[in-house]
Amino acid sequence: MSGAGTFPVEDPATLEVLAHVSDGTAADATAAVDAAAAAFDAWRRTPPRERAEVLRHAFELLVRDADRLAALVSAENGKSLADARGEVLYSAEFFRWYAEEAVRPHGDFGSSPAGGTRTVVTHRPVGVAALVTPWNFPAAMAARKIAPALAAGCTAVLKPAAQTPLTAVAVVRLLAEAGVPDGVVNLVPTTDPGAVVSTWLTDERVRKLSFTGSTGVGRLLLRQAADRVLTTSMELGGNAPFVVLPGADVEAAVAGAMTAKFRGGGQACTAANRFYVHASLAQEFTARFGAAVEALTVGPASTGAQVGPLISERERAGVEALVDGALAQGARVAARAAVPGHLTGHFLAPVLLVDVPADADVLDEELFGPVAPVVVFDDSWGATTGWDGLLERVNGSEMGLAAYVFGPLGEALRFSEEVEAGMVGVNRGLVSDPAAPFGGMKQSGIGREGARAGVEEYLETQYLSVAW
Ligand code: NAD
Repeated sequence: MSGAGTFPVEDPATLEVLAHVSDGTAADATAAVDAAAAAFDAWRRTPPRERAEVLRHAFELLVRDADRLAALVSAENGKSLADARGEVLYSAEFFRWYAEEAVRPHGDFGSSPAGGTRTVVTHRPVGVAALVTPWNFPAAMAARKIAPALAAGCTAVLKPAAQTPLTAVAVVRLLAEAGVPDGVVNLVPTTDPGAVVSTWLTDERVRKLSFTGSTGVGRLLLRQAADRVLTTSMELGGNAPFVVLPGADVEAAVAGAMTAKFRGGGQACTAANRFYVHASLAQEFTARFGAAVEALTVGPASTGAQVGPLISERERAGVEALVDGALAQGARVAARAAVPGHLTGHFLAPVLLVDVPADADVLDEELFGPVAPVVVFDDSWGATTGWDGLLERVNGSEMGLAAYVFGPLGEALRFSEEVEAGMVGVNRGLVSDPAAPFGGMKQSGIGREGARAGVEEYLETQYLSVAW
């Protein structure tokens, strides 16, 4: 990479500079497409079995290096070592899953209803794919895009978030070791994402955009993608409700809440953002949840803490402002974890808020931090133990990524059918699974990643009408 210069990457737990990385320019962005376009023909003609074996090898290398990669994820992102290790193994699984998908034939054959012709449906890789990833899962978001793109036969240009480029560098190096040929995956870290990504979106050799990040940036990129009618996959923001129905197993619900809320310090698009708990269980739920929140250890990953810092001072201050706003609207702090006084990073104490009014602003924002606001609902919310009013509030968001529901299975499933979310954790606080289609409804996105659906995002359909 030519690079106009370099930029520092900081550990958000200690504010220490970890490394300097080349700062990609528009010219670097074009050079990356040159390489991806040059590599495309050979890669798409590489037999699926060979492509699969490269992906399988990548899976093995990520598992081999899981501890090293986890330390890197923790260093630049701040999440705990346990969360980082979980992310790396989750990332590895995408390579394993798409190694398996790469060899499943895609296609169809049939006769036309009028007779006389046959219909042959085939799929081909869409071309050079532009992949843009956020900082909150620096390994997994890259893996979730690269693995299906390569399985489909696409080549890729990848722009990681400026806060967390080091993990992407490490993953791309492992891919080279796994046998991914030169030019198939090209990385451009930058502090000028607009310049790099617009260069890609206006380059006629790029045929696909896969973006994970905020809904605001997603909208902007969709507008740019419209000019060239690009195929897009958009994994955007969330505002996940976490619902505890009457009759729920409270212990399981609290365990689910701890996972859904505090994994990565709450900085996940699938993080439980607002809790709705039925009045019959509210006291027990908040008492147990509060005890669990107070027991959380906060600090740098290197100390073994469970919750790390937020990614930046701006984010920390933003989340703190949302908490202050909720308190001003009548919420109360029921429990707060302790933060050691000597820490220099962007730490914020995990906090449980109760008495949150159902119309509080904090419930409308993607919190992206370790804050759990609890709203109590009861029969006054509508028919069937508040069901109507509950659904109205739960679905009254423009986001529709994840939702969680705890309760007797039949009720929980009935709720799932009504909730506007692409993914529902039913008596579980975790929905991510490489073998399942990850994605959102409404303004949370377009398309799915993972599962069979994930590879289809990188394929173009062609049909042959054959005189028979
Ligand atoms: P972000 O939108 O600020 O950034 C995401 C990526 O877009 C980064 O690589 C960034 O450099 C790039 N970017 C920013 N401005 C750009 C521009 N003008 N042109 C081109 N690229 C630009 O998001 P973030 O703060 O990194 O991540 C947090 C957000 O991501 C949250 O909203 C979260 O919900 C969302 N997210 C969604 C998923 C999902 O799968 N749906 C997963 C993880 C994160």
